[in-house]
Amino acid sequence: MPPEPRIAVIGAGLGGITLAALLQRQGFPVTLHEQAPAFARIGAGIVLSGNAVKVLRRLGLEPALLATGIRPAAFRSRDWITGALTYDLALDAASEARFGAPFLNIHRADLHEILLSALVPGTLRLGQGLLGVNQRGETLRLDFADGSRAEADLVVGADGIHSRLRALLFGEAPPRFTGRMAQRAIFPTANLHGLAMDDCTKWWGPDRHALTYFMTGARDEVYVMASVPGEEWDGTDLSRPLPRAEFLASFAAAAPDLRRIAEGAESCMVWPILDRPRDDRWHEGRAVLLGDACHPVRPYMAAGGASAIEDAAVLARCLAAAPGHAAAFTAYEATRIPRVAEVQRISLANTWMRGPEEELDWFFGYDACTALIEGLAA
Ligand SMILES: Cc1cc2nc3c(=O)[nH]c(=O)nc-3n(C[C@H](O)[C@H](O)[C@H](O)COP(=O)(O)OP(=O)(O)OC[C@H]3O[C@@H](n4cnc5c(N)ncnc54)[C@H](O)[C@@H]3O)c2cc1C
Repeated sequence: MPPEPRIAVIGAGLGGITLAALLQRQGFPVTLHEQAPAFARIGAGIVLSGNAVKVLRRLGLEPALLATGIRPAAFRSRDWITGALTYDLALDAASEARFGAPFLNIHRADLHEILLSALVPGTLRLGQGLLGVNQRGETLRLDFADGSRAEADLVVGADGIHSRLRALLFGEAPPRFTGRMAQRAIFPTANLHGLAMDDCTKWWGPDRHALTYFMTGARDEVYVMASVPGEEWDGTDLSRPLPRAEFLASFAAAAPDLRRIAEGAESCMVWPILDRPRDDRWHEGRAVLLGDACHPVRPYMAAGGASAIEDAAVLARCLAAAPGHAAAFTAYEATRIPRVAEVQRISLANTWMRGPEEELDWFFGYDACTALIEGLAA
């Protein structure tokens, strides 16, 4: 396909920004439409595994990621109640050589800022929540909530789990509440009062788990995320403040070290954990979806963001190499759906990196920028 089609990307999340930046490097005219009027610094960290870092390396972002986030010395699994070590994966030079890139932990807002730096100035249109898409001939007309309009030849829905574009293509279907909540806190390491904390640990409990890690190379900021049972989420708000006492209550039966880490929290937030049953409808006509818009997962493999970034790399390659958008979208789906289905399966089972028996190379070692594209000549 010649690099002429005008591509509108809806949603400036991890997948949307990555896609827009990759497409621009291939010469496509791209606009990126984001509903938020400005980006908030939400209190959360993110695990960026080697497969995601390899894509962002193509955008020249690896030095900034390394300077801002942390390469944890190891990923550890521990028992929630006893604190016993059940898995210890060194994340050293040998593991970076094995997977082809470092494993990083970083503040989401820092990652977002670094991603935005890869865009050509003027690409991002804030305050443009997509409302509708109409096709006239080969041109799409996009209508936004602020009354503005745009024209494009192709539209990509990178608009997350509540995707408007997905609803327009395939009908309204709210995501399902999984009966679990993600409780999160970020606080200065000084709040640990000298407690030695591993760089990155998943604590496995009978009905809950937690992830604790530093988010900066200076190890001066701690992130705690606990997935706990929760009642029905009654509302459309995406997150709410959580009283500190309720956050600490989630750790009442935890090992003393985990309890002491949780006690470092000052203010806490809670998110409902949502997903959707697998649905392999990812495109329709001139519109295609990526990331959480088409395959949201429970965050138990820490792979949803990395998968959206992989989607972006594969979709950009398909659009550049295929003879037309229909062939590009078909190749994209054929390449991505089997891999993402495995991520969905493991995320549901919540087994990832619990112990040494898990095979890691297929996920961390993957390079979406060079991997075989199904149905397209190499
Ligand atoms: C508790 C928790 C922890 C997680 N931890 C990890 C982790 O460690 N590692 C990892 O890889 N993944 C993790 N994930 C998953 C990851 O956050 C998501 O999979 C990822 O953000 C999906 O990226 P995306 O680009 O598809 O969508 P999003 O990042 O959700 O971005 C969607 C964007 O679209 C915008 N938007 C929505 N509707 C519209 C509209 N109508 N018009 C215009 N814009 C719109 C939104 O404002 C947003 O900016 C976690 C998820 C949760 C809930």
